[in-house]
Amino acid sequence: MLILTCPYCGIHCDETELANGGEAHLKREGPGSSDDAFEAYLFDRDNPMGVHFERWRHANGCGKWFLAARDTVTMEVFGTYKAQSIEPPAEIVERIRAKRPDWEGRA
Ligand SMILES: [Zn+2]
Repeated sequence: MLILTCPYCGIHCDETELANGGEAHLKREGPGSSDDAFEAYLFDRDNPMGVHFERWRHANGCGKWFLAARDTVTMEVFGTYKAQSIEPPAEIVERIRAKRPDWEGRA
């Protein structure tokens, strides 16, 4: 079972308390963007076997959105952080690199 720590209220919640919001750190496209860029924003998603950054909502708790870094194969969680973060915190990236030396980073 997936257990994530909500960075807002500090509660360790299992997946029954959470709602998945898909991939994190998407670049939003607005007016003036090309059709290809907008199509990629709407439909193109990473689906790696390994390290992945995701959006989650503490739906049956504080209700806030947050981000999580986890391994999609082993379900190992590297950390969670607030949804307003543009990039993953350095300590989470260091934790991933320590455990997955061959990880190439975010695309
Ligand atoms: Zn919470």
